[in-house]
Amino acid sequence: MQTKGNVVLHVADVQKHFGGLHALADIDLQVDEGKTHAIIGPNGAGKSTLLNVIIGRLAPSSGAVVFDGTVLTGKKPHEINQLGVARVFQTPEIFADLSVLQNVMTPAFARRDGAFRINMFRSVDNERGIREEAEHTLEDVGLMDRRAVHAGALSRGDKRRLELAMCLIQKPRLLLLDEPTAGMSRHDTNTTIELLKKIKSRGMTKVIIEHDMHVVFSLADKISVLAGGRIIAEGLPDQVRGDPRVQEAYLGGVH
Ligand code: ADP
Ligand code: MG
Repeated sequence: MQTKGNVVLHVADVQKHFGGLHALADIDLQVDEGKTHAIIGPNGAGKSTLLNVIIGRLAPSSGAVVFDGTVLTGKKPHEINQLGVARVFQTPEIFADLSVLQNVMTPAFARRDGAFRINMFRSVDNERGIREEAEHTLEDVGLMDRRAVHAGALSRGDKRRLELAMCLIQKPRLLLLDEPTAGMSRHDTNTTIELLKKIKSRGMTKVIIEHDMHVVFSLADKISVLAGGRIIAEGLPDQVRGDPRVQEAYLGGVH
């Protein structure tokens, strides 16, 4: 499958069946380097399934996912993660009994050690460097004042911000976000939009799944509309906003 020079992620002719259900049918998606690519669509459209296929949690029934020239299909989630692909989950996956700061330090250790384990022989300098990096990341996401709190005690919005910090400290080349503002107040949503804009200016490629139109139109360079497991429209935000098929399938839909 040929890809253009600036395409960093190519989902090539991917299908995913669950028994008789075609959750994804002939998905062909190209994400340009450094851009924010939004995937929108009604509930059940296949958005989370698509993300799970990209990060290796689900194997496609056919087709392939290519990241920066490497075929991801067949690789395990942690192998894909080590290639520079990170994901913020729809339900935050954090260590509830560790402090906020410890949570953010954990992926940094994992990155250095190449596995999710604490290296007993790590140098003090290394630990200090990781702590500084973690604090810097917590400042970025606005959680510095909560660094000593047990992560389990955070509000839902703050847990999502913590998970974002745990992704950012990995310095991924591609960040996948599944409804990053779900369950947040309008104020927290706006804070998250500003944060994601800041990340965007650092050149990280992002794929963002989102129901909230305000978020999508604030952030997206390009939008793909998924309905019934197919991409029914794709283009710049203004093109997609005015597309009658999109209004029918999505804007008049569940949310
Ligand atoms: P979205 O994220 O757009 O709401 P999903 O990707 O979660 O949609 O789901 C797409 C379709 O696939 C839905 O009909 C859903 O019920 C179905 N589905 C998702 N995951 C599974 C699974 N593990 N087994 C069976 N069906 C599934
Ligand atoms: Mg979903």
